[in-house]
Amino acid sequence: MTQSSSGPGFRSTPADRPMPLAEARARIVESITPVGGSERIDLADALSRVLAEDVTAPIDVPGAPNSSMDGYGFTFADAPADGARLQVVGESLAGHPFGGRLDAGQCIRIMTGAMVPPGVDTVVMQENTREADGQLIIDTAPRRGANIRPAGEDLRRGQIVMRAGQYLRPADIAVLASVGAARVEVRPRPRVAFFSTGDELRPIDGPIRPGEIYDSNRYGLAAMLAELGMTGINLGVVGDSPQALRAAFAEAAQADAVVTSGGVSVGAADFVLDVLGEQGQVDFWRVAIKPGKPLAFGTVGNARFFGLPGNPVSTAVTFVQLVRPALVRMAGGVPAVPTRFMLPTQTDLDKRPGRENFLRARLRMDADTPSVEAIDHQGSGVMRSMSSADCFIVLPADQGKVAAGTPVWVEPFAQPVWGLPAG
Ligand code: AMP
Ligand code: MG
Repeated sequence: MTQSSSGPGFRSTPADRPMPLAEARARIVESITPVGGSERIDLADALSRVLAEDVTAPIDVPGAPNSSMDGYGFTFADAPADGARLQVVGESLAGHPFGGRLDAGQCIRIMTGAMVPPGVDTVVMQENTREADGQLIIDTAPRRGANIRPAGEDLRRGQIVMRAGQYLRPADIAVLASVGAARVEVRPRPRVAFFSTGDELRPIDGPIRPGEIYDSNRYGLAAMLAELGMTGINLGVVGDSPQALRAAFAEAAQADAVVTSGGVSVGAADFVLDVLGEQGQVDFWRVAIKPGKPLAFGTVGNARFFGLPGNPVSTAVTFVQLVRPALVRMAGGVPAVPTRFMLPTQTDLDKRPGRENFLRARLRMDADTPSVEAIDHQGSGVMRSMSSADCFIVLPADQGKVAAGTPVWVEPFAQPVWGLPAG
């Protein structure tokens, strides 16, 4: 299966059977080394960055026991049953602790987040009490220890708060703020050069003639890279000639990764694979996936190279299935295992055994019964099938036709891309 060819001509080798998708993904991800180095930045700027080192809590969170309710704090032994009465001798507010001390039979008014003073081991919620004649009457007694959050309930001093490799989401930013991590060490973002190939491609802000098309893939690629927080280096459109491709490859080789569209199939104007073999190294070509078979993976300079097929749906599907996990790894993150579940298909599905199929589809929730409905036009040039879909139906390689009502694997478009580090 491995092709270690370093020159043109090997595309005709009969032994080069398309590689199963799972194998291609594993090979790609395993071969990626995260971009080195790190930078220290303000936590406020750290959303969607990848943590470069473990963060340890320098303090307990919370730092002291505090009340989880608005109510009254007291010693449980003083008021263990319904109807108990206590004398209110002070109050503890968040940020304004009670400075005195409690004697037997006394309590304080205490608010949510306020420090629990020594001597108080229980808080009764306000709704279960009354005040009468300067006394507190507890109508419904809480259990001992109720409504008190112990020091270190969330995090203990010295504990690892977050692991290196964590992709920082809003909740992660809040957790880091809760231990006073004002600045954090994060990974650099991979620099990803990308370009389109094809003599038929035209810029989107001008006219086109019959036989020409707008270069839509480059916009789709730029958007998918932006969504990943990657620094895209847009190298424009490159014509279908080895000379033009050589120049583009030389420039792109400065980046950490290169993603191209088109020119990677068996056509008379497809030179990407040849130039990759010439100026770099082909690791493998062709994946048993539909759409997207003629994908090329390799290396050029220091950059990992992803030659995606030019059909717009193929470009999008192969990016999601193979490039995205690789870039997550390159960014120092952990590629999430794709989320899939089974739903009955609303319609019959056409399929021949051979390649894993990614049909564009919509999740349905009719009459509270989930199902999935394939988009009617599945051509790999019909990009509308992507934008009117919210999930893939994934049919395994050896699968044949599927009858309506049969459960099929569904992979939603919106799902975690960045997994959690181990530990
Ligand atoms: P290729 O992979 O170069 O053989 O291209 C396959 C199909 O995708 C052809 O119909 C191309 O015109 C189309 N295509 C290639 N590149 C682009 C692009 N950047 N934007 C839109 N369609 C493209
Ligand atoms: Mg082409």
